[in-house]
Amino acid sequence: MRRVYLDNNATTPVLPEVLEAMRPYYAEHFGNASSIHHHGQETRAAVECARESVAKLLGCRPAEVVFTSGGTEADNLAIFGLVRPGDHVITSTIEHHAVLNSCKHLQERGVEVTYVPVDGSCLINPDDVRRALRTNTKLITIMMANNETGVVQSVEEIGKVCAEADVYFHSDAVQAASKVPIRVKEIGCDLLSISGHKMHAPQGMGALYVRKGTVLEPLFFGGSHERSRRAGTENVPGIVGFGKAAELAVKAFDKGEDRAMAALRDRLENAILEQVESAGVNGAGAPRVPNTTNIYFDYIEGEALVIALDLKGLSVSTGAACSSGAIEPSHVLTAMGLRPDRARASLRFSLGKQNTADDVDFATQLVPASVERLRELSPLYNKAAVSS
Ligand code: PLP
Repeated sequence: MRRVYLDNNATTPVLPEVLEAMRPYYAEHFGNASSIHHHGQETRAAVECARESVAKLLGCRPAEVVFTSGGTEADNLAIFGLVRPGDHVITSTIEHHAVLNSCKHLQERGVEVTYVPVDGSCLINPDDVRRALRTNTKLITIMMANNETGVVQSVEEIGKVCAEADVYFHSDAVQAASKVPIRVKEIGCDLLSISGHKMHAPQGMGALYVRKGTVLEPLFFGGSHERSRRAGTENVPGIVGFGKAAELAVKAFDKGEDRAMAALRDRLENAILEQVESAGVNGAGAPRVPNTTNIYFDYIEGEALVIALDLKGLSVSTGAACSSGAIEPSHVLTAMGLRPDRARASLRFSLGKQNTADDVDFATQLVPASVERLRELSPLYNKAAVSS
């Protein structure tokens, strides 16, 4: 059976060039990058070369890049590295759980957290961030691109608010990296998280940009790796792969591949909306990363549609977390003001570099028929009433 994967915001396949770059660092060039002998120097050079590539992707100095085990660790390092009891933090209602649950934990430790809302398009108003400022505000952590809707925030405007107030600014750019250009100096952030496996590098790799001079308490204690910011022997093959993926991402922007990706996403979105009634795009009208569309299909359960499509060979997802058998509507979509039933009826389609127009056409053939079949089973759906 043909299988098409359109869930690249969950994870992406490692690109062949990335795998090739990593391969020698498992058995051939296996040295510990902290060793001073030949074997260590060889891997040290590879790690520093990868750091330069990641720095180029972000527009920062190589020394400002700290390698981590992923986006979650980068977010945790930024937040717990800075914030202390008695501080105040500003974040948003639509952050990834790596940030939201970190903030929840901070609240249990005596830190006050303000959650700024989003509008119906998933956008944060920078004035709301400004209004939330207090004298003890230590950190503002606002994501660059949302993992469910793909909506890109006005991080530069938020950066200005932070600079005016002299407050640290962290941005979770895990879903932005390699999809939209990131220039940390223009954003004006002090900290910014990215993750390898969302950009065709291996899982278990990430990085935190730490602006020069930012004092961060480490999460781990051990050796003085990563300028004492992240103890532990470096994952050299992972770092090399991450560096290669960053290098390819920079080249892809030069070749306009982001625009080609957006065209493919629009083709998918338009073809589905033309064929399916009572459907629409969540976050339409807002700036979005080029690979993501989040579509509601009223009168169906998103989970049921994910399963129906999976049986036909298409992998997509809902943003909703399934806990104890009950499907909770997505916190992102409900924060945007969607009714719980519409939030539960929403699916995320996310493209990767490996996807082709053929993959998109495969999806556009399957989705309308599967929606139709599920709606026929729905007691809430009355085709005549919807069409009239
Ligand atoms: N932040 C965002 C916006 C994400 O989408 C994800 C992963 O889905 C993470 C953080 C966590 O990254 P990782 O899976 O590398 O820990």
